[in-house]
Amino acid sequence: DTIGANLDRAVAAFPGREALVDLPTGRRWTYAEFGAEVDRLAGALLGSGVGKGDRVGIWAVNCAEWVLVQYATARVGAVMVTINPAYRAHELAYVLDQSGVSMLFASLTHKGSDYRAMVEEVRGGRPGLREAVYFGDASWDAFASRDAGGLVPEPLSADEPVNIQYTSGTTGFPKGATLSHHNILNNGYFVGEMIAYTEEDRICVPVPFYHCFGMVMGNLAATSHGACVVVPAASFDPAATLRAVQEERCTSLYGVPTMFIAELNLPDFASYDLSTLRTGIMAGSPCPEEVMKRVVAEMNMAEVSICYGMTETSPVSTQTRRDDDLERRTGTVGRVLPHVEVKVVDPATGLTVPRGAAGELCTRGYGVMLGYWDEPEKTAEVVDAGRWMHTGDLAVMRDDGYVRIVGRIKDMIIRGGENVYPREIEEFLYGHPKIADVQVVGVSDARYGEEILACVIPRDPADPPTLDDLTAFCRDRLAHYKVPRRLEVLAEFPMTVSGKVRKVELRERYGD
Ligand code: ATP
Ligand code: MG
Repeated sequence: DTIGANLDRAVAAFPGREALVDLPTGRRWTYAEFGAEVDRLAGALLGSGVGKGDRVGIWAVNCAEWVLVQYATARVGAVMVTINPAYRAHELAYVLDQSGVSMLFASLTHKGSDYRAMVEEVRGGRPGLREAVYFGDASWDAFASRDAGGLVPEPLSADEPVNIQYTSGTTGFPKGATLSHHNILNNGYFVGEMIAYTEEDRICVPVPFYHCFGMVMGNLAATSHGACVVVPAASFDPAATLRAVQEERCTSLYGVPTMFIAELNLPDFASYDLSTLRTGIMAGSPCPEEVMKRVVAEMNMAEVSICYGMTETSPVSTQTRRDDDLERRTGTVGRVLPHVEVKVVDPATGLTVPRGAAGELCTRGYGVMLGYWDEPEKTAEVVDAGRWMHTGDLAVMRDDGYVRIVGRIKDMIIRGGENVYPREIEEFLYGHPKIADVQVVGVSDARYGEEILACVIPRDPADPPTLDDLTAFCRDRLAHYKVPRRLEVLAEFPMTVSGKVRKVELRERYGD
């Protein structure tokens, strides 16, 4: 199906149910109203000269217009290019040029970011960018009041592209994963199936829409089950999130682990009524067991789901199930979704490794992207002739079919022929009393090929650990080849805009 046809079905089945609630402005739409508004904006896009295959950028924090534009662009067959609102002008310019955006929707301002000023800065010299429209501004009203001028959307197939999403850039420069209606609509549907969404569900979405977590696992999962999306705030705010759950009687809450930690740590946490919650999704990075226990017990989210995925696979490949125990919810990223295949291979030979052994996780199925936009060589590096996506993640397939993520291949250190997984050493070093945070990377070494470097943020900057401290701490508790031989004490780590540590930069900085 196309996303437009899927929305039509929800409008026909649940016309009076709420589809979208935008709490900061208090606006709400039933499915009938939402469908009508999407149709009106689709007409405005056609009237603006946007049609099938045209790239429409969206560079905005969360708001109702974001969701409306998502469905309106899909309706006319345009390709929405979702741009991280944390990007600054030069990153915006890269994305606009790489994907050839002809029309851009953007926030006006948010928390000191003047989006309009940054757009105007890059617009000169880019005649291909014909128009910029700002949410909550006269330019939006002017756009929304255009009519289609007699044009109708061209016929569409579900295999045509609908979205270009740039990866986080954790391991290099972001790549534009090109995704079809079929790719992301099915993923939203099946992720929702695993948590048994119905038209009774109300999903609180504090995660950003520009990323597949919000726009696929949130918006598309909701419309394909008749559920409602509640937008608590323009960007993450723990108190606003819990208030939204309480006031809107949400049944599901999304977040990355750090968001749940911030909510649990609110001084007035106990005063929120979270009794309507039953489920939610935690994804993006591993979840500490203590946090998971509290989410289940204190936030009433007995069925909370863990998802693993990547932008290139629409995104989710594995997910925990409703009745999984705590061990599976904290020790694994679940098992494969319906109609998706996963295997764990030896990166050198491509052969499947035995269960319990670490190797590269590969996935195949409806979710695998069409390719990286305009970069066929890079696509061929990750999607093989059999349509398997090589994720670059190291994983273990357990006997029960549940998958454990061990790290990233690019981060794996080979010291004197021994494979060393940074994550294992990091988890061990977290236990050191002088260490607040730690990243372990491999740096080149004449003798061993690679040597192990620990980059440490000390608890007390006046009293950082020394290399001798680390060596003593590791002695007899870690195999000798895993013990860091170099130490750098830092105040902070280089981060991607989506909040992941850029190990590649640590390697470059301290590599020689
Ligand atoms: P880039 O590809 O540009 O280097 P990225 O891989 O971080 O950046 P994303 O597509 O946003 O960009 O993230 C996907 C990656 O996030 C996965 O390949 C995996 O390493 C990590 N990841 C996703 N979900 C989980 C999870 N539940 N547990 C652990 N890691 C996860
Ligand atoms: Mg990646």
